Amino acid sequence: ERPKCEEGRLVKAESPQGDKYEEVKESLSRLNLKTVCEEAQCPNIGECWNGGGDGISTATIMLLGDTCTRGCRFCAVKTSRTPPPPDPMEPLNTANAIVSWGVDYIVLTSVDRDDLPDGGSRHFALTVQALKTLKPDIMVECLTSDFRGDLTAVDTLLYSGLDVFAHNIETVKRLQRIVRDPRAGYEQSLSVLKHAKESKKGMITKTSIMLGLGESDDELKQAMADLRAIDVDILTLGQYLQPTPLHLTVKEYVAPEKFVFWKEYGESIGFRYVASGPLVRSSYRAGELFVKTMVR
Ligand code: SF4
Ligand code: SF4
Repeated sequence: ERPKCEEGRLVKAESPQGDKYEEVKESLSRLNLKTVCEEAQCPNIGECWNGGGDGISTATIMLLGDTCTRGCRFCAVKTSRTPPPPDPMEPLNTANAIVSWGVDYIVLTSVDRDDLPDGGSRHFALTVQALKTLKPDIMVECLTSDFRGDLTAVDTLLYSGLDVFAHNIETVKRLQRIVRDPRAGYEQSLSVLKHAKESKKGMITKTSIMLGLGESDDELKQAMADLRAIDVDILTLGQYLQPTPLHLTVKEYVAPEKFVFWKEYGESIGFRYVASGPLVRSSYRAGELFVKTMVR
């Protein structure tokens, strides 16, 4: 079982190494904390946990369980209309575990919880608040659902103290119905990202698009223009990989040079940072991206 969303379509990891990696791995097993990085056997784990050149380590934790109320055709997460209720102690326990562990930047993500009245936003917010209380200098990114377009739920999270609000549009406009659960949608996702930017002054917003699902260059340019029109700061672009034979097939393996082209194109139209490459995922070296975004 692979745990989540865009992190769920990953290939086999090489054996990662490094001092920080070893330190993070050791404390994780001591704290019994589950990361998306390990569960999905993410190939970026060495780079993210070691912190790459900038030494800012990143890891991704999943809140609200492992069962999603939606069923997107690219995602291998398990689904149910009635997942178990969230653990009320999870926000505090997770925050305690994260702060006792040597990571600089944490990405909190979750499955979609359409069964909860607020989509789980309060649960997310409580986790961020606990983290920031216990360790004010930790940087926190929340990679969230669309909360069914409920902007009050988005606000609950926006005012929790997080540093980056991330929500993925996943693909270009034409392919939304084919790729995502029917309850998701292009306009709804854009409205959530727009609201996050407008509602909280200075909020950094971020999104991700999978390539190789049959999108044309013009469609991708249009999606990028639509994201710039609502002032999204950071964009990540990665190759879609089919997680199982039951999922959408890959239409194209995009050449590495094309990913370089899209990075340059995206930054030329105003994104503060574009991470683009076959193995790039939404949370790929997220701490470094955030810091680079802030100094630009
Ligand atoms: Fe996967 Fe879609 Fe659920 Fe996200 S909303 S966890 S992409 S099925
Ligand atoms: Fe973890 Fe995301 Fe980095 Fe993969 S890309 S190692 S899931 S933080």
